[in-house]
Amino acid sequence: MMYIILDLEWDNSYLPSKNRFINQILQIGAVKLNKDFEILDTFEATIKSSFTKRVSGRFSRLTGITNETMRSGIPLETAVKAYNEWIGTDTVTMTWSTSDLFSIIDNEKLLLNNLRFKIDKYLDLQSFIQNEIRMMGVEITSQISLLNAANILKITADELSLHSAKYDSLLCAALLKKCYQKERFEAMIKDTSNPEFFERLCFKPYYISDIKSGNINKEHMKFNCDICGSKGIRKSKWRYRNRWFVADFFCKKCSREFSGRVSFKKTYDNLIVKRKICEVKKKEEGQDEVQSVSSPL
Ligand SMILES: [Zn+2]
Repeated sequence: MMYIILDLEWDNSYLPSKNRFINQILQIGAVKLNKDFEILDTFEATIKSSFTKRVSGRFSRLTGITNETMRSGIPLETAVKAYNEWIGTDTVTMTWSTSDLFSIIDNEKLLLNNLRFKIDKYLDLQSFIQNEIRMMGVEITSQISLLNAANILKITADELSLHSAKYDSLLCAALLKKCYQKERFEAMIKDTSNPEFFERLCFKPYYISDIKSGNINKEHMKFNCDICGSKGIRKSKWRYRNRWFVADFFCKKCSREFSGRVSFKKTYDNLIVKRKICEVKKKEEGQDEVQSVSSPL
């Protein structure tokens, strides 16, 4: 088993043939490690765009890749073929966060006619390192950058070389060597040949706004009075407001009105249902602007 740390530099560019923007891959950097995380080899290719002669100012400042460097690069297809040859077989590929994977998917689809980056097994290195840093007792709230992680792990990073694909992958390798933990590392390795891997990756959680959605269980839309427990009688249509379905209910026993609210968030694996009961406020002018939806109930 060998390990590949892959790092891409991409520029957000307008692709005229598709009339949309794409995070165009302009540099591929990678390092190959043996099972003891010793460096065996490195890979670097700068890519010549097939549709633009210019890189953005931001990209150029960040990566040091100028228009001239980009134009003297090789075609993406050539670079990917060379990379695939270089990585060999029986490897785990790692990237710092999954954002490079999204760029890979997009480039494969729009620029690479069926040619794919060779990735058999995959591990999100950012996720692994963050977890290890947390285990050391350091609090992390949002996703950390490579530089922050290096600082926390007391690995000296040359800030001027950051955002060069090869340098970033070498820095990743140093971080990994510093906090490798076999069991937790192996548990995070994913098999990309399983179609679920990309489905899960590309799935964006969303709130259901269509009351007729097959994901909604109607039982979740029944409300009992929160004072006496009797079944509430729904007195209004369901309205959808800020991710919540809202309806007015009436409890006969208490002779009171209340508002029942329920939201449904669809994630790849689950449906997260939240419910609450609110007192009905006296209606004030313009306060209750809601969208009416028809209810199948
Ligand atoms: Zn009641």
